[in-house]
Amino acid sequence: MAETISRAVPVPSPDRRTEEAATGSLISYVLPVYDEQDGLRRFHRELLAATATRPDLEYEFVYVNDGSRDGSLQVLRELAEADPRVRVLDFARNFGHQIAITAGLDHAEGDAVVVMDTDLQDPPAVSIEMIDAWRGGAEIVSARRRTRRDTRFKRLTAHSYYRLLHNLAEVDIPVDTGDFRLLDRRAAEELRGFRERSRFIRGMVASMGFQQTEVLFDRDERAAGETKYPLRKMVRLAADGVTGFSTAPLKLITRIGFLSLGLAALGILYAVALRLFFPQITVSGWTMIMVVMLFLGGVQMLSLGVIGSYIGRIYDEVRQRPLYIVRKVIRHDGG
Ligand code: UDP
Ligand code: MG
Repeated sequence: MAETISRAVPVPSPDRRTEEAATGSLISYVLPVYDEQDGLRRFHRELLAATATRPDLEYEFVYVNDGSRDGSLQVLRELAEADPRVRVLDFARNFGHQIAITAGLDHAEGDAVVVMDTDLQDPPAVSIEMIDAWRGGAEIVSARRRTRRDTRFKRLTAHSYYRLLHNLAEVDIPVDTGDFRLLDRRAAEELRGFRERSRFIRGMVASMGFQQTEVLFDRDERAAGETKYPLRKMVRLAADGVTGFSTAPLKLITRIGFLSLGLAALGILYAVALRLFFPQITVSGWTMIMVVMLFLGGVQMLSLGVIGSYIGRIYDEVRQRPLYIVRKVIRHDGG
């Protein structure tokens, strides 16, 4: 289905990971779950079927129950009871997709870590291609969507957003790539060091460097249930991507500032000239004053808004609240 393409500069010597050396390696799956009770069993079945095609590797499955309100936790308990390789982190409430992934990464112990959604939109078979690319020497393997089957609105907004972000961001964030990704142990360790609160993980990964490769895939529809990313959450994530990895809004203010200053200077000259040379009609300058004042007022309000959004981020960071609270770690032995 998907083909492997190499994006970055020439593949370096696959130092330690030859086929044999990787045998016996532990692969961790980080699997965020929010209200997925209807599709979860099928997802796990398909994931097991996929991993069974590489029996020379060890696996652990780290599910993160992100405060599901449905029966997802019960399903996860059953999966953990049936298989010692399954671990479940049960969040005390819904902390959001990006935080759920972060918690899973913190608890994953593998030589490579695969992050994927649990609604079967990220096909388990593609993760096997990622593992093969990792064995070939790649340190980070991202899955890039060749096609996606979402609503027209989602496709359109996602398409434009990824391209806008790609142009604005100071790091090279690949287009049409979500959080479906494999990270080598080293890369995963580095990613754990990013503790910022407004999290845009694909940006952090892009900013880390390492040997990065892509696999292309066709994104399926959700197996069951509906999207947990309503417009509100999508907009927040999109804003985190821009403010977290670009200062374009700040630069824009500076530009507008200079422009308004220039216009103001012209306006002042005009008003003064009018007063000096045509004193009999200066009353009409009232219009001018109103225009300038309104214009400056608008610019100032806009500037305050953007500065405010950065102050908001500082506020978030300064509070240093825990990123998440794990109520319990569920293991095979029920402990
Ligand atoms: N998810 C989560 N917490 C949330 C929202 C989503 O853990 O607050 C999980 C969800 O269970 C799924 C993945 O993140 O495994 C992606 O969410 P979803 O499929 O709803 O997003 P979409 O694919 O529509 O962008
Ligand atoms: Mg989905």
